[in-house]
Amino acid sequence: MNTLLPWQQQQWQNLMARLRGASFPHALLITGPAGLGKDRFAALLVQTLLCERGIDAGQPCGQCRSCLLYAADSHPDQRRVAPPEPGKVIGVDQIREANRYLTQTSQYGGYKAVIITPADQLNANAANSLLKSLEEPSPYSVILLISARPGRLPATILSRCQRLMFAPPPPQVARQWLVEQIDSQLDPGLLLDLAEGAPLRAVQLANEDIFTVRREMLTALQAFGRGKGNLSALAERFLKIGVPQTLYWMYTWTADMIRLLSSGNQRSMVNYDLREYLVDIANNAGLQAAHGYLHYLNETLRVAERQLNPQLLMENVLMAWQDMLMPQGNSLSKRA
Ligand SMILES: [Zn+2]
Repeated sequence: MNTLLPWQQQQWQNLMARLRGASFPHALLITGPAGLGKDRFAALLVQTLLCERGIDAGQPCGQCRSCLLYAADSHPDQRRVAPPEPGKVIGVDQIREANRYLTQTSQYGGYKAVIITPADQLNANAANSLLKSLEEPSPYSVILLISARPGRLPATILSRCQRLMFAPPPPQVARQWLVEQIDSQLDPGLLLDLAEGAPLRAVQLANEDIFTVRREMLTALQAFGRGKGNLSALAERFLKIGVPQTLYWMYTWTADMIRLLSSGNQRSMVNYDLREYLVDIANNAGLQAAHGYLHYLNETLRVAERQLNPQLLMENVLMAWQDMLMPQGNSLSKRA
């Protein structure tokens, strides 16, 4: 059964108190970085609202008719609205359907709930259509919007939702939870650093065998910085790992190179498992070129999501990397 994560206790207790005090918001926007369990929290909240004993107990019982239906994903008083495919938008028809659904009486005589995730994927028409339900909520209906990027939601939506924010938990809380989830051979501190403190993201990285993948990527980049390897093949390989992930790692590697070059201080490094490679590349690049590349990556990260040709974007990032390491115009993969 889905359970509350240790860093979500405070928010949960607050909501349960409001639920018993009948001041529960009809629309709640759950925000915070990815990997903190926002979707899990929302799902547990819905199950609690639907459970026959949930509101009194402050958690779902797991045994009543509602809980059993919920576990079988067939409770009629809850809906989940998400893009039809990852990366696609939530369309107006999906929201119109949810609006209609919210105006009907609940099948089991209690709450009805709709989860919209990720809410920042609502297109303009869908967002407009949702306003109707936010402005004239049906009794005992709850809309939960989940978003790691609430800044992308229209102000009209934001102003009609109460906000519940999650931040990365204190490192010792995250670590204590994480060690229970991962192979004991893996370094929980490093995983958390790589996941920017988000524990569920750290688990995902552990499952993706991230240490090997990163090492292989950096080995390829080290060689490419010496003019070895094929540009488009390497770009293709990195695209399979994903643009945001690749750019983020290259960013942390470059930042670590700058740390090594400016202070030699290893303790502030993020990627200390890759120290050997990073020292070599950093010495080859020099401080000024590394600063230049970090600045370039910063700019690229800012526009990456709007870039329509990811292959081209990745090839440019790799060429700039090679330029950092072979600045005299002797890089081998220069475009004609
Ligand atoms: Zn129950």
